[in-house]
Formats: sequence, structure tokens, C-alpha cells
Amino acid sequence: MTKHAAIHRRDGALHVEGVSAASLVASHGTPLFVYSRAALMSAWDAWMAGIAASNRGVNGPEVKVHVAVKANSNLGVLSVFARLGAGFDIVSGGELRRVLAAGGKAADVVFSGVGKSVEEIREALVAGVKCFNVESIPELSRLDDIAGSLGMKAPVALRINPDVDANTHAYNTTGKKGNKFGIDYGDAREAYAAAASMAHLDVCGVDCHIGSGITDTAPFIAAVDRVLDLVDILESNGIPIAHIDLGGGLGIDYGDGATPPPTPEFVKTILDHVDKRGPRPVWFEPGRSLTAAAGLLLSKVEYLKPGPAGGKNFCIIDAAMNDLARPTVYGAFHRIEAVEERVGDTEVYDVVGPVCESGDWLGRARELNVKVGDLLAVRDTGAYSFVMSSNYNTRPRAAEIIVDGESVHVVRKRETVEQLLSMETVLP
Ligand SMILES: *Cc1c(COP(=O)(O)O)cnc(C)c1O
Repeated sequence: MTKHAAIHRRDGALHVEGVSAASLVASHGTPLFVYSRAALMSAWDAWMAGIAASNRGVNGPEVKVHVAVKANSNLGVLSVFARLGAGFDIVSGGELRRVLAAGGKAADVVFSGVGKSVEEIREALVAGVKCFNVESIPELSRLDDIAGSLGMKAPVALRINPDVDANTHAYNTTGKKGNKFGIDYGDAREAYAAAASMAHLDVCGVDCHIGSGITDTAPFIAAVDRVLDLVDILESNGIPIAHIDLGGGLGIDYGDGATPPPTPEFVKTILDHVDKRGPRPVWFEPGRSLTAAAGLLLSKVEYLKPGPAGGKNFCIIDAAMNDLARPTVYGAFHRIEAVEERVGDTEVYDVVGPVCESGDWLGRARELNVKVGDLLAVRDTGAYSFVMSSNYNTRPRAAEIIVDGESVHVVRKRETVEQLLSMETVLP
């Protein structure tokens, strides 16, 4: 089998592994999400390389990587990671079902989230998830009750808010005082004492997750120090802590000038820092750093709308904020490229969709040389992209495809308007 570069240009034409983006559109239409299996696997390999390069190496104390399902929950994508031996981080009962349907094991699942319902907890206990990352004392009591009623003991780690600033978008910072996430650092000892006193809980670890899209190692190092300080206190109070879970949050290079450390270097730095205070099992929950760069959103130019003199030109494409919400919600930057490059002069455009909102933009002030009918690729849309899509403006959601070498797998069919309407009824 020939090995293909993941996402690259050949004679100026964008390719995903062995298949041209234009031919994918010819067969599957637009808007279209495309993921490269090779890119997903190399992102995983980068995490493994960091572990191997660390002082603990591959045979040292456990390092377990759990894929954050919420970043890209497509069954095809999850199945790639399940076959690589990944664990999974879930935030709902629905995500647990996805992991199991994709071939993952409940025994490799950690269950995070501030609002776990009674039904979700029961389902996760019965399935046998590895650990509940608990975010409040009321949640501890609920978990203890349900585990007791099932005659089980629930494995728990408390998600601690280490009060570090991740220097990321306000919606993506989760480990600072005042966020809804985690247990306040100052309340952690009391919460652990409560957990240790509950008959149907098994305290196994400490958890934190400080945010998402973080491009600097320093806040992670600060969080590790805070977590290990707490571990020392807990253990001296007779509460043994088996693992520390450092969550996810490593950003990628979206081309906006903020450059995170390469994954292997990041992983090695964190593990070696932990090991200065004694080796113990370390868990991670990366999402974005595993899937974002493996994805493309392909779209077609519908109209070029020149602005008034001195005003903005608009490039109106058939993908919109309902397909990719990140620009609208976070002001996020995604590179936008012509699928087939043209020679000649560029114009500056705001790239926008058909949705009836001025917030419906995918890129601002982009230099492009395009004509109506051309294809554009919005890069790095493998994380927090399709999963945040909606049917706003009664737009059926896009199809999702995985390219694997020369093979193309439709891993989610394009929705139809008939399917959308079939969920609803008029009054009798
Ligand atoms: C979202 C989330 C992650 C993954 O974050 P990334 O920034 O995608 O790596 C991990 N853990 C928890 C608890 C999360 O909520």
C-alpha cells in the first residue's frame, strides 16, 4: 500500500491522502466535512511519541490518553481511535453510547461534566465506566445513592479548579475561579473528605481540565503543581490517590499566529514535570489536538458580491454558521483556501454563508482569487465543527467522509429536508 501525505497539494489541487478534494465534491456534494484517517492516526502517534520520549518511556507508570468525544463524535472517527487502543472522555450518556457503538470499551471511559443526570449516571455505572470525574458535592451524593441502589461502588476523581489562567477565549477557559467547572481549590480537601466517607464511592484520583485551545505550556505546568500539592495533602490525610487526570486543552496552529508547542514536546514536558515529584499514573483527555487538523470543510462559491467603493466584498459560499459555528461563537480563525489555485490577481473578501444573520461569517478580509462555482476548503475543521452544527434556517447538516489512502468512506450521510420535517407535525 502506498503511504499518502494526509492533506496536501498536488499540481496545485488540494488532496486528502490519495483523493482530490474536487472529486470528493463531485461524488458527495457540498458542504462536506472530510477527515483524513492518516492525519487522525499521526495526531495520535504524536501523543504516543511524547510518552515514549519522556523519562518514564513506554514501560514506565501508566499514561492513558482518552479522546474527548465532544470534539468529534462521529462513529467513524471514534472507531479509528478505538482501534488504536484509546480511552475516551465523555460528557453525556449519548456519548457513552457512541463510544460503545464505535468499538470502544466502557472500562476505558472517563465520565466528565457538571450536570450528569440520574439516568446518565445509572447507565454509566451499569456499563462499567472506569471513572466519574465529579464536579460538586451534590453530585457526589447523587452518585453514592445510585451506586448504593445498584449494590455497586462508583470509582471517582474530583475535578478540581486549580485557579490558573489558560489565556484562551473566555468561553474556553474552565480552570479559573468563577467558572462553573470543578470544585474550588480551597474546598477540595473538604470535598475529598466527604467522598471518602461515602460508602458507595471509591476515591481513585484527582482530575482537572483548565480550558481548550491553549497554546502555551505554562498554565498546564501551573495546574500540575496545584494538583500535586493537593495530592500531597490528601495522602498525608490518609486519602490515597492513584492517578492524576490532567484533562485536555492543547491547542493547534490554526495559522492565526498563536503557535502551541509540538505535541510530543508538550507531552514529554508535562510527564517529566510530574515525575519530579514521583511517578504515578497520568491520564489525559485531548480532543482538539487529535482531530482538528485532520478535517476540512469543503464548500462552493455561490455568489461574488462586490461592495460599494471602499466597502467590503463578499464571497458567499454554501457553507454557513450552522455548519461551522466557531467563527460566530468564538471569533475563531480558520484558513480558507481555494481547492484549485488560480493564477492572477486576488481580491479581499469576507467569506460568508447564506444564513440570515450578520454573524454568519466564516472568514474576514481574506485574499482570494475565486470565481462563482469554485470550491473552497476551510481548514482545521476536524474538532468542534460538525459536532456544533445545527439545522438553523432549515439547512440539512452536511455529510461527513473519511478518506483512507485511496478509499472514501461516508461516515455520516447528508441530511435531507424530508428527514428534518419528519420529526415534526402540524396541529390536528
Ligand atoms: C472539552 C474537554 C476536553 C477536551 O478539550 P480539548 O481542548 O479539545 O483538548 C477534555 N476534558 C474535558 C472535561 C472537556 O470538557
